[in-house]
Amino acid sequence: MKDARDHDLGMNRPITRRDFLNGVAIGLGSAALGSYLTGCTRQGVSDSSFARHAEGYSPPAESGLRGDALGSFEAAHGLRDGTFWQTVGSPTSTDATYDLIVVGAGISGLAAAHFFRKQAGDKARILILDNHDDFGGHAQRKEFQAGKRRLLSYGAQSIESPSLYTAESKGLLADLGIDLQKFYHYYDQKLYPSMKLGSGMFFDRETFGEDRLVTGFGAIPHKDFFAKAPLSERARKDMVRLYTEKVDYLRGHTLEQKKAILAKISYADFLTKIAKCTPEVVPVFQTRSHDLFGVGIDAVSCAALFEEGDDYGYGYPGLDVTMGASGDRGMHKPEPYIFHFPDGNASIARLLVRSLIPDAIPGTTMEDVVLAKADYSRLDKPQSPARLRLSSTVVRVQHNGDPASAREVTVTYARNGQIYQVRGRRCVLACYNSMIPYLCREMPAKQKEALAYGVRAPLIYSHVAIRNWTSFHKLGVFQIAAPGSYHVYAAIDFPVSMGEYKFPSNPEEPMVVFMVRTPCQPGLTQREQHRLGHQELYDVTFETLERNLRDQLARMLGPGGFDPANDIEGITVGRWAHGYAYSPNPLFDPDFADDELPYVVGRKPFGRIGIANSDAGGIAYMDTAINEAYRAVQEMARYQS
Ligand SMILES: Cc1cc2nc3c(=O)[nH]c(=O)nc-3n(C[C@H](O)[C@H](O)[C@H](O)COP(=O)(O)OP(=O)(O)OC[C@H]3O[C@@H](n4cnc5c(N)ncnc54)[C@H](O)[C@@H]3O)c2cc1C
Repeated sequence: MKDARDHDLGMNRPITRRDFLNGVAIGLGSAALGSYLTGCTRQGVSDSSFARHAEGYSPPAESGLRGDALGSFEAAHGLRDGTFWQTVGSPTSTDATYDLIVVGAGISGLAAAHFFRKQAGDKARILILDNHDDFGGHAQRKEFQAGKRRLLSYGAQSIESPSLYTAESKGLLADLGIDLQKFYHYYDQKLYPSMKLGSGMFFDRETFGEDRLVTGFGAIPHKDFFAKAPLSERARKDMVRLYTEKVDYLRGHTLEQKKAILAKISYADFLTKIAKCTPEVVPVFQTRSHDLFGVGIDAVSCAALFEEGDDYGYGYPGLDVTMGASGDRGMHKPEPYIFHFPDGNASIARLLVRSLIPDAIPGTTMEDVVLAKADYSRLDKPQSPARLRLSSTVVRVQHNGDPASAREVTVTYARNGQIYQVRGRRCVLACYNSMIPYLCREMPAKQKEALAYGVRAPLIYSHVAIRNWTSFHKLGVFQIAAPGSYHVYAAIDFPVSMGEYKFPSNPEEPMVVFMVRTPCQPGLTQREQHRLGHQELYDVTFETLERNLRDQLARMLGPGGFDPANDIEGITVGRWAHGYAYSPNPLFDPDFADDELPYVVGRKPFGRIGIANSDAGGIAYMDTAINEAYRAVQEMARYQS
């Protein structure tokens, strides 16, 4: 559907995005497109997926729809829908037997390979398979060429609270040469404050009656901030009251009673039923939880928004004092959110790959990895003990004989429309839990049921290269919450310079804007919302995404002089239908005993098959992905040959 404003928005402008026709990349062979898109045939995904691994090819430089890009998911969906096996031929066996086969080249799969090699020695033969055309899983690197500048961007963003990491996770970062203290120097924490750039909130006309950007959140008194918001007097008063009054809304209850009450109440209900705010405040907060939880405040338990002993919480007013964090209990400052490489946690994936396959990524330091050019043609060389094979969707993992006594596992994967088989002495599944029942059909029913329980949160991380960031500068903001808009948050990049990579600190320079969207359906359970969100993400066209983000940037930043037709230089959308790992939600899920938690039951080793991935820890953070890899590799250690 063309929009009358398309011309003004610059929908027709030549920028760095792949050209898309209704979300489908032009240039792929039409036979190939007809195949996996409508099920699965021998035609496979597209011949271009092989060309992509030729010398010189660089997936991070691809723009348009990335993340779960076209070609990465069709075989898996064919498997789910029961159409896959009817349409493929006999498998071809490849390679000699590996000591370890890892399914999934996200942080967990790469970490599993790292831990295994440490244990088994440098000569251990390891094969890592992943369905995407790039490694890193969510930690996917993005590159832009904006004018003369090369700009980097990210999927998974930062090393979050590393002081809380386990010895194994800290040890892995140290093995890779990452010195966390250096980020205090690389991340310029003073830059935005020195330019008087702060936080703003964009109120959109569809939700709040008019388009208005209000700036100065936290810098000016809440009374003054909300006086400028297009809200009723009652809503303004309630917003100010929530932020400023020091009230225990559950007075008379013990801490344990409060915890029990808050576990079963959403923040939306807390606002209206416990803090007695007008329902008009709910839309202001509705999407605040999207980025962290993948759902709105209707579906987030208050218990998840406050950590005992952490007087800062996550910025949800009303909960802190209620839970006893009055500020005089000895507040401990949370670690700053600064542990960020310019390409996010992709640098950690790249450091892992460099350590496993040194030929593929040159360099030796945490600084030089930032701009090092990976040679994708060297990831899968027969002479290398560790190999990484991309665009390869694993469709079956089966012991050669009885799982209790078998000495090998056969792994079958689809690549470029062909089926291949490899054998391994052990296998670690660092892919999605929900995929495993389709791969390991012999697993006990209870374990398969447990693996299928969690539903990963769908997320879109859009990155937009802009010609300059003078509009942000003029408006005095570096980040904007947009509770009613298509993307609920937008921000200019983290001010990090490392090695040869210099952050564009002058507003006249090109910059990358980061935007988040989480498809939600308030009123449903979290798992139901995620399932519908998966569908939305697979159905959405790039054209829709592009139009929406251009329109939103124009409306938010127009008063600062932003012109989407002229100022946008490139767009890359990270579509993660299977995003964050699922943590049971006390609002909707049973109160599982610790040993009955679905991810605990699901992660039990099955013969020579171990289960890693953040799903196996039920928490969507990098340290979980690493810890689960460590555990899965330890479990496999009992098989000496
Ligand atoms: C947008 C986004 C931002 C995030 N930001 C942060 C952050 O800032 N900090 C943080 O700590 N965490 C963050 N996370 C959480 C992130 O999930 C973890 O940090 C970590 O990267 C997860 O790694 P993983 O290996 O467990 O899973 P994944 O990254 O999901 O990797 C699993 C890989 O296995 C592949 N796979 C699945 N099935 C198959 C199959 N059948 N055959 C072959 N391959 C298969 C998948 O496609 C994927 O590439 C973020 C997540 C998302 C989605």
